[in-house]
Amino acid sequence: MGSGKLGFKEQFSKTLGKSPRQAVSLQEYANFKVGGRADYFFAASSLPDLVQAVHLARQHKISYYIIGGGYNLLFDDDGFRGLIIKNNVQGIEKKGTVKIEVFSGTPILELVQFCVANTLEGFEFLAGIPGTVGGGVFGNAGAFDRDIGSFLTEALILDKSGEQIQVDRNYFAFDYRQSRLRTNRNLLLKATFLLQMGVRQDIEERIAENLAKREKKHPPREVACAGSYFKNPVLPDGKRVPAAYFLDQVGAKSLSVGGAAVFSDHANFIINKQEAMTQDILRLAFELKNRVKQKFGIELEEEVIYLPAELSMP
Ligand SMILES: Cc1cc2nc3c(=O)[nH]c(=O)nc-3n(C[C@H](O)[C@H](O)[C@H](O)COP(=O)(O)OP(=O)(O)OC[C@H]3O[C@@H](n4cnc5c(N)ncnc54)[C@H](O)[C@@H]3O)c2cc1C
Repeated sequence: MGSGKLGFKEQFSKTLGKSPRQAVSLQEYANFKVGGRADYFFAASSLPDLVQAVHLARQHKISYYIIGGGYNLLFDDDGFRGLIIKNNVQGIEKKGTVKIEVFSGTPILELVQFCVANTLEGFEFLAGIPGTVGGGVFGNAGAFDRDIGSFLTEALILDKSGEQIQVDRNYFAFDYRQSRLRTNRNLLLKATFLLQMGVRQDIEERIAENLAKREKKHPPREVACAGSYFKNPVLPDGKRVPAAYFLDQVGAKSLSVGGAAVFSDHANFIINKQEAMTQDILRLAFELKNRVKQKFGIELEEEVIYLPAELSMP
């Protein structure tokens, strides 16, 4: 039989020498621990595998979606009609004294550890932010008024036509929790970051301080959530104000829907308290948005990405 006649799964196995898994529960792949089953699931551990998986999905007109650590994601109760590609393509290489090239599936934790080991200064603010570099660049992850996009100089992207293109920082149009990847759905394959030489002890001290500050306001690691649910809104005078400031004043901390609840110590964290469904989380978020809109006239915008079961091809 000619390869053109093969179905998606057969062609996938033939090309990559590995099969995508079928009917995979997505619950363990997002920190919210909710979601139904994906038709297909593939964990890519090399760049060629990742690129081929996308290529085959496109060729067979199957919707696909890339995930990193799943720390900013909300899967649908109905799962996903298509292929979920988990990005496990990892690795960091030094390019000169203060430049590093990082594969997008590298955990942020490893990036921070690499910087400490190589006395590279700049990424201390990333300590404690869970997820991968790909997810981090997608949402321009940050804390303490710093963000990952400010350190990116170049990147390798897989565009919608399957081309690999080299881009510079301007391409991303980085803004608060925002990059162009959020809207164009291209994939980050590799990123180059420019840091500074530092002093190891200072770097370690700053990391310890940042982690201590985070520990005070964030839920403990075992709590199922996706970090801040809403972006901090900008007021007409241009000031960015924590979403929690408004949420606190509309009684957020006492609210729950089904198994979803607002975290007791931080009004901008929705948590899966007890076997929540995605619908519970979405309904609770809707209620919170409504209350803030009614009381303050402010439209909160979700930072968490909700992936609907049906997604059109990019
Ligand atoms: C307890 C907790 C605390 C948090 N604190 C912070 C914080 O302080 N600051 C902050 O900014 N965030 C924070 N977050 C959110 C989260 O850690 C970040 O958004 C992180 O960057 C997500 O990375 P990820 O790999 O888990 O992305 P995922 O959740 O897997 O994916 C998120 C989005 O990125 C896209 N994506 C992933 N990889 C790629 C890629 N290679 N190319 C293109 N798109 C890609 C996905 O398609 C998806 O749309 C927190 C989350 C938790 C649970």
